[in-house]
This record gives sequence, structure tokens and C-alpha cells, in this order.
Amino acid sequence: MERLYGSDPRLEIIPKRLESIKRIIAIMSSKGGVGKTLVATTASLILADKKYRTGLLDLDFTNPSTHIVLGINPLEMQPVEEKGVIPPKVHGVEYMSIAIYSGDKPLPLRGESIDEVFREILAITRWGNLDYLLIDTPPGLGDEHLNLLTYIGERVEIVIITTPSPLAVRSVDRLLEILWDGRYRVIGLIENMGRGVLKQYCREKGVEYLGNILFDEDLERSLGDIEKLRETMFWENLSSIVTNIISKGS
Ligand code: ADP
Ligand code: MG
Repeated sequence: MERLYGSDPRLEIIPKRLESIKRIIAIMSSKGGVGKTLVATTASLILADKKYRTGLLDLDFTNPSTHIVLGINPLEMQPVEEKGVIPPKVHGVEYMSIAIYSGDKPLPLRGESIDEVFREILAITRWGNLDYLLIDTPPGLGDEHLNLLTYIGERVEIVIITTPSPLAVRSVDRLLEILWDGRYRVIGLIENMGRGVLKQYCREKGVEYLGNILFDEDLERSLGDIEKLRETMFWENLSSIVTNIISKGS
């Protein structure tokens, strides 16, 4: 703890910044390409459609891509600066991403500098009174992930997402071990591009199975167009998973 908290005043500000949010949910996976970004972004839109006050935070600094799903040019966003940064509203969702500052340019960040950006973005962003904040995270199991979870604190609820591929599932084993070791709250697992084969896996691991999303060949065509996204099977499948997640908060 001492190593993390040191004397950086931002680490005291972060929990205060998050006080106005009822539930903070990080979408995590140990692998890339399993659907974190699509799920985090679409789930935030589904929650906003259900009239929940919702925020979306893109913490995938090396490859931010939630803005592509939302169909916005992040550089045109003008966050209001007032004792911090007030996130702009996109399709009814309070939205923050490093891409608002960097656009589509990749950020060649490593280790400590990633950690630095995590602290900065969490410390400057002034979320409104939110029911839900969804966080899109970078893939992996590095220190920077664990630091991120530590900064947000014990309130963060983790949703793991994976495809049913044994390659992906093997890395979920490791992710779960690390999360359990750190006593983080894993609220469940989403099976993406699968037909329910991971139910058994979840039973064995003692992890809640939140539901599955089928492979949707129309999904790619709806990227950047949320009206089309609303019509997809992906949206429909994810809606029932979101209902499950909502019920865990009551
Ligand atoms: P991650 O954030 O985990 O790297 P993405 O959300 O970027 O993953 O998704 C990776 C790719 O897989 C994207 O091209 C996305 O459109 C596609 N994809 C994700 N879920 C599905 C699905 N259920 N059906 C079809 N394509 C999907
Ligand atoms: Mg992603």
C-alpha cells in the first residue's frame, strides 16, 4: 500500500471523485479481442436506454476504441474544465477516454507511464451522480491492472469476459486466481461468441455465469452507428445480461 499511495495527492482525490457513483463495474479479460470494448460500450448504452444515469470510461490507453463503437470523433469533444474535467455526454452517457486528448494516435505507454495516466484521468474526471460507471480496460494481467483496481478501491465490481476458446479460458484461470488473491469482487463471467458451453466451467470455478452472447455477423456493420447497434442480436443478448447485472445491485 505504502508503495502505491506514497505521497501522490491524486490517490486521495480518486475515491472522492467516485463517491457520486453507485456502482462501478470494470469489464476485464486477460486476452484481447474477446469483446470487452463492445460489451462495455453497448452495456452503457443499454443502461442509459433504461434511464439509468450511466458513465463510460475507456481505460485502454494503448488502444482506445469505445469512440469507434459510439461513432464519435473524440477530438471534437470539448470536455468542460472546471476544478477538473466534466465528461461530455454521448448518446446520454457521460463519457471519458484518453482519445479525447490523443485522438486515434496510439500512445506508446509502458508500465509506469500507464500508471501515471490512470491516476491522472481518475483524479481529474468529475462524474455526475451516476447509477453505473462502466470501465473498458486493456487486456492483460499486468501490475498496471492491479494498480487500477487498487486506485478505484474495494467498490469496483469485476465482470470477466471471454470466448469459449480453450486458449482464452486458460487465461481466465490465471486472471481469476490473481483477482481472488487480491480479494477483488468478481461478480460474474460473460461468454462471448459462444453458446453456453462455459456454464459448467463457471459452476466448477464458483463464478456466477452472467449469460452468453452469440456470434453476430451483423455486428461489424453497426460499429459507429448506435441505431443499427440497437437492432442487433448482440444488443438483445447483452440486454438480458445487463438485467442480470442490475439485479446484483439490489
Ligand atoms: P476487446 O476489447 O476485448 O479487444 P472488442 O470489443 O474490440 O474486443 O472486439 C473484438 C472484435 O470482435 C471486434 O471486431 C468486434 O466487432 C468483434 N466481436 C465482439 N463480439 C462479437 C460477437 N458477439 N459477434 C461478432 N463479432 C464480435
Ligand atoms: Mg478493447
